[in-house]
Amino acid sequence: MTSISTENTSTVTVGMVWGDEGKAKVLTDNIAESLEAGRDVINPRFQGGANAGHTVYVRTESGIVEFISHMAPIGVASNCKIAEGPDVAFNPIQFWKEVSDAKKLFGFNNDIYLSERTGVLFDYHKKIDKLHEAEAGRVLGKKVGTTQSGIGPFYMDNARRTTRITLVDYVSPEFNSLLGKVMELKRQEIEAALALDNEDLRKAGVRSVSDYHDWIVAQHEGVRRELRPFVCRLEYILRRAIESGKTDVHVEGGQGSMLDVNMGTTPDQTASHLLATDALASLGLPRRAVKIIGVAKVCPTRVGGGYMPTLADDEFGAEMQKNSGEFGKTTGRARRVGYPDWVILRYAAMINDIDEIALTRIDNAQDRDIKVCIGYDTNGLGVSREVPMKLQGIIPFYDMKSYRWHLFDAPADLSDPIKVDVELKSRRKAVIDAGFDNLPADLIEYVRNQDKYVGKPVTMLSIGPTQGEMLRRH
Ligand code: GDP
Repeated sequence: MTSISTENTSTVTVGMVWGDEGKAKVLTDNIAESLEAGRDVINPRFQGGANAGHTVYVRTESGIVEFISHMAPIGVASNCKIAEGPDVAFNPIQFWKEVSDAKKLFGFNNDIYLSERTGVLFDYHKKIDKLHEAEAGRVLGKKVGTTQSGIGPFYMDNARRTTRITLVDYVSPEFNSLLGKVMELKRQEIEAALALDNEDLRKAGVRSVSDYHDWIVAQHEGVRRELRPFVCRLEYILRRAIESGKTDVHVEGGQGSMLDVNMGTTPDQTASHLLATDALASLGLPRRAVKIIGVAKVCPTRVGGGYMPTLADDEFGAEMQKNSGEFGKTTGRARRVGYPDWVILRYAAMINDIDEIALTRIDNAQDRDIKVCIGYDTNGLGVSREVPMKLQGIIPFYDMKSYRWHLFDAPADLSDPIKVDVELKSRRKAVIDAGFDNLPADLIEYVRNQDKYVGKPVTMLSIGPTQGEMLRRH
């Protein structure tokens, strides 16, 4: 094998807490930097499915465009090469729709690599997700609160092996009969799922598992043809790209580390492996060739009902939520806001082997008193800097010092990035041009203290939602 440069211009970008940290924005900026430096870029997604949503605001000739992707890597909006890794819960129909949107919006016309090992998510996974939720409600008295995108049932099928359909099978002529066998193995569950109120299937005249099979086959026929040329041995392509010394691989994570199936906090995790080291394992990438970037918002947010030690159940939280427009693009659900939690960041830095941190939404946190959690008191047993598996019962321990900074004058409501762009873009640019040392003293101190506590440095400071609104600290 050829030697690998250790310059680390390739990256893996993961969320450090509960997701929605702004990973796509950070990635978009790093992709732009590579492209501007004349390097080729491949942007693979490595896990999860359409349950995650990324939003970016891209400047085009006709103004700012909001682009939301659930399945396609965010590089479609930057027209770099894109890829899907083996651990992705791949929804081909959704993927192809988003790629087609990106063609229209951004002229996407670059290469697509789909790992032959990637498993395909079908409509029955979604219906079974709904069934499992109903069962959880009945037996446990509490639903999991999934996005019902079929992710949990998909990963169960992947692990069972006999019920897994990978992309290499999906695009082969044997697909119809294989799907039939898999649906036969799952007959009981599919029948139970069909018995629920599935209006779309009822309208389409689906009455039996056999009808359902034919309906799925018809739904996928065109997309299977379109995707056939892109199915490949991704691990070799990525390895050759890295060894060429001319290509940067920018790997994209979904969700956030605290939702990881093993290392997250219980309950309310997701079904996939989210850590940066999982990305390396599933894409066959060498650790020494990549820089691992953890993304964290100043104030973490959490969608759904999951426990959050620093939940700001007060005016601060309500104002931050409104001002920052903290509502999920996938589900429309409100994201609850918390005070900064350095205990979790320190843990996330450790379990992901993070090299550098991108801190986002610094603008949203301006003009407020920001207090920071630096310890967890578990049931009055003493303050610890460790994150237990279960967060219930933890009392956050806040530092005596709080921080307050002012970056630029801005309207109280920043929730619509397009509306405030004209007014703010030059002010944001001025802050970025002035550089790190000219930031407000409290913000500099906040960043330096976080560096010390977490043990890894903040190297990127995001002060706006739009591509490029990022201050790099050298
Ligand atoms: P992701 O899944 O981690 O990429 O995050 P989402 O797409 O769910 O949400 C991130 C949102 O925050 C996007 O709308 C971004 O444009 C926005 N965003 C990211 N960084 C910043 C920032 O520094 N300031 C502001 N105001 N918005 C940001």
